Amino acid sequence: MEGIIVGNKANLYEVEARNKIYNALARGKFKKDDALKPVVGDRVEIDVLDDKNAVIDKIHKRNSYIKRPKIANINQIIFVVSTKDPKPDLLMLDKQLCYAECLKLKPIIILNKIDLSDCYKEIEKTYKKVGYRVITTNAKEGKGIDKLKKELKGKISAFSGNSGVGKSTIINSLFQKQMTLEGEISSKNKKGKNTTTDVKLYKLEENAYIADTPGFSNFEISEIESENLEKYYIDFIPYIKDCEFVGCTHIKEENCGIKEAVCKNKILIERYERFCKIYNELKEKEAKKW
Ligand code: GDP
Ligand code: ZN
Repeated sequence: MEGIIVGNKANLYEVEARNKIYNALARGKFKKDDALKPVVGDRVEIDVLDDKNAVIDKIHKRNSYIKRPKIANINQIIFVVSTKDPKPDLLMLDKQLCYAECLKLKPIIILNKIDLSDCYKEIEKTYKKVGYRVITTNAKEGKGIDKLKKELKGKISAFSGNSGVGKSTIINSLFQKQMTLEGEISSKNKKGKNTTTDVKLYKLEENAYIADTPGFSNFEISEIESENLEKYYIDFIPYIKDCEFVGCTHIKEENCGIKEAVCKNKILIERYERFCKIYNELKEKEAKKW
């Protein structure tokens, strides 16, 4: 029977199959190689033992795989930014967009708390121009949630964003009930030593799942090498060919296609400025490694 892993604690898996949840162990053959071990999000074949128990026999080919936190088959990451309390952190947003591009996951931007400030209009314009899907919401009153729901159909989606931007409110509004985001809560709990890194999938509707992932809100962009950053700045890509120098960093060089595009207003200067910041941060980190 085919199912999907929706939870995992140590060796025990929760597998959803035909609208039932089974407790499952993985067959011994998976233990030989860590990369072959089943993870949350995996589509699997199970042998059903009884009403509650099953054994995972086969893992289907993964569309995506993230190492930290371990999760397979995520389709998209939804980045939540609030207009106020906390104020928009666009540097972080740009870093996360790069990371999503690097992982080949589709990013979607939610601008939440549009009732508190009009600044979302500018941000919406900026990121639509870059080429991203932007959804504006007032999660407290459930506005924009239907639009979001449509984007989630048939996909496994993860949410990310600073604490307080409204992730829980949005998710509760989607499910129309109170959900506890265990990952979020446990990652906030700085006192407890054993902060859990459990990843869970919540079923929104048939074939649509929300991943509750502790590590996503402040994941490390430093895995990206500074020289590759340009590839993940999707508004840069058409102009890189206009740079005179191979390996142009787009910072100090003359005759740089990117800088020209900024001058001609084809690339937004704010995006370019944040690129320089991120680039320099990555460079610094790389220098420290040696
Ligand atoms: P999380 O840390 O990202 O999960 O954020 P929460 O969902 O816990 O929301 C933080 C606070 O913002 C709560 O007090 C929410 O009621 C409030 N909030 C969430 N969405 C909105 C919104 O659209 N408008 C306003 N005014 N407040 C909101
Ligand atoms: Zn250049």
